[in-house]
Amino acid sequence: MPIRPLPDTLINQIAAGEVVERPASVVKELVENALDAGATRVDIDLEEGGIRLIRIRDDGGGIPPEELPLAISRHATSKIASLDDLEAVATLGFRGEALPSIASVSRFMLASRPRDAEHGAALHVDGGRVGEIVPKAHAPGTTVEVRELFYNVPARRKFLRAERTELGHIEEWLRSLALARPDVELRVSHNGKPSRRYRAGDLDAAARLGETLGEDFARSALRIDHSGAGLRLHGWIAQPHYSRASADQQYLYVNGRAVRDRSVAHAVKLAYQDVLYHGRQPAYVLFLELDPTRVDVNVHPAKHEVRFRDARLIHDFVFRTLQEALAQTRAGVETGVAA
Ligand code: ADP
Ligand code: MG
Repeated sequence: MPIRPLPDTLINQIAAGEVVERPASVVKELVENALDAGATRVDIDLEEGGIRLIRIRDDGGGIPPEELPLAISRHATSKIASLDDLEAVATLGFRGEALPSIASVSRFMLASRPRDAEHGAALHVDGGRVGEIVPKAHAPGTTVEVRELFYNVPARRKFLRAERTELGHIEEWLRSLALARPDVELRVSHNGKPSRRYRAGDLDAAARLGETLGEDFARSALRIDHSGAGLRLHGWIAQPHYSRASADQQYLYVNGRAVRDRSVAHAVKLAYQDVLYHGRQPAYVLFLELDPTRVDVNVHPAKHEVRFRDARLIHDFVFRTLQEALAQTRAGVETGVAA
């Protein structure tokens, strides 16, 4: 075969392979867009575990009608404009590929109205084929509708699991988001029935902690807040008597982004080493804040991982902070002081 440029839709479908694994990845990308747009409330309507329908509505800044086609164009973004911006990126998104990817593998609709505009507009995309911009009544904010995910990609559709399993993945991701953003109200419905509501308010997130991870965790949690070397680590760690059989309650956020990081996970494990029984797992919700130029978030399209410029320093900072906090509770217990 001669060398030929790929058609746009196929390029987007290839990108979708990395960004859109399952309904939960769509929910993640769309809710992150809502948060980047400054939303204070996000409504998430799902049907059949998100396979049949994912509809995300927000009250954020909105998109002007004439920019709707750009929003679904590959590598078009309002979040960065230069390499300097990328190296200090503070938004959750920046690659400009979620919407075009999702739109290329679903029946897709984007409707929006900027806060200061009188009218809204909508754009439909069907398996990558883009329709006309049409006027549409809409409250200030944005709605994205994703129907029949992977309807045109049978190989992907085959990997979708049962409705309950897909819903479980969505709920798990929303839990992790709810922990990080107690200032945002999240309402979820499934198959037409309200299924979950996280109320906004408690900025300290303590109430959210119980709501999301259970009262047992919340009761045993130690509040952490320690700064040094330009780093801040805050959040909650469970006291050793509350441990888990698996690593199912380990939440780490770097500058507000939920990530997995081996080095930080190792530092936590080390801090608990002497106080947890062999094979038991600690539970924690930890937020690490540092200057965005000290961490590279552009490691993978799905952005589940980051790369620290000074990984060793961060490892030791996390280890020492937690070791100290745990040592204090032990001292408290030994002297009979309630921890
Ligand atoms: P990215 O988030 O990386 O910029 P996306 O493909 O997810 O790329 O979105 C493309 C652009 O569309 C965003 O940069 C933003 O300007 C706009 N956009 C997407 N979703 C929303 C939303 N919910 N509210 C306002 N603008 C949005
Ligand atoms: Mg995005």
